[in-house]
Amino acid sequence: MIETIYIEEEIEDHPRTGEICRRFPQARLIPCRHYGEIFNRKNQNFRLQKVQPALILAKKFKNFVLDAPAGYGIGGTCNYYFSHMLNCIYDCRYCFLQGMYRSANYVVFVNYEDFTDAIIKKINDNINCKSFFFSGYDCDSLALEPVTRFADNYLPIFRRYPDACIELRTKSTQIRSLLKIDPLPNCVIAFSFTPEEISNALEHGTPSIDKRLAAMVKLQKHGWKLGLRFDPLIYQDNYDEIYERLFNIIFSKIAAENLHSVSLGTLRFPETYFQNIIRLYPDERLFTGSFERKQGMRTYNSHIEQSMLQYCKTRLSHYVPAQILFPCEHAA
Ligand code: SF4
Repeated sequence: MIETIYIEEEIEDHPRTGEICRRFPQARLIPCRHYGEIFNRKNQNFRLQKVQPALILAKKFKNFVLDAPAGYGIGGTCNYYFSHMLNCIYDCRYCFLQGMYRSANYVVFVNYEDFTDAIIKKINDNINCKSFFFSGYDCDSLALEPVTRFADNYLPIFRRYPDACIELRTKSTQIRSLLKIDPLPNCVIAFSFTPEEISNALEHGTPSIDKRLAAMVKLQKHGWKLGLRFDPLIYQDNYDEIYERLFNIIFSKIAAENLHSVSLGTLRFPETYFQNIIRLYPDERLFTGSFERKQGMRTYNSHIEQSMLQYCKTRLSHYVPAQILFPCEHAA
């Protein structure tokens, strides 16, 4: 439950600000000039703030749509991402956001119209390119859907521009708004998974694997295109057993022929984020052991990385064709 909402003066009267605030009638409303005053303040502790994050409603002014990082793709030639929200209501111990931001507060940029214009411009500027837009880079796309109405507001753009595609990436079961509308052939609802043992230990507050699968089954019946994301793959000695079990469970419920894409990549962090995360969780076993520095990144050592990727790719290729399998591999 949100107890405090900071509101930038600039969007105080924006209708979406009012709509969001009405969902939290008990919350303390505090005006601010710029969200950075709260979000980027020095000496904040992400870990402590995660216990009771505030919501910050803000306006974004520039950089609405950015180029996706290299290797972030599922078949498009031009890959972009945009973030209507920063941070996430879940608390996965491996999440890179905790190394990227000083604050665990949630920021929602309420000027969706400006994002919409920027997305349309990007589509029109790259008319000869198969554009893919990723929405779950700095947040979980759907976890806060009842508050943000993200899908409700952004999917109509993609209905108008069927040659451009959007991915909603999630671990949530907030699919009610998607079940009320006709599915879009150019939208992929991608669910992220780790094996149950890892999920129980590291994905705090997320719906269980069974619940995520139940949501996927409903979306599948409704006609939505689905994706599977095994990113990050997390190493432990018996990784082959636990990933094998996970794949068996998933493909006993999800029709492989209806999948749009399956992507996978091992755990990795930009070096600076890794250092920040280690400071937050110095005793966390996940970050000790077989990591090495590689081109500004912290990754598993090459042997572990390649073995895991190869194993999972081979197992997954028993279920899905190679054309929809997208491993994210690092240069050695
Ligand atoms: S669901 Fe994704 S964005 Fe949210 S905490 Fe977990 S890894 Fe981070």
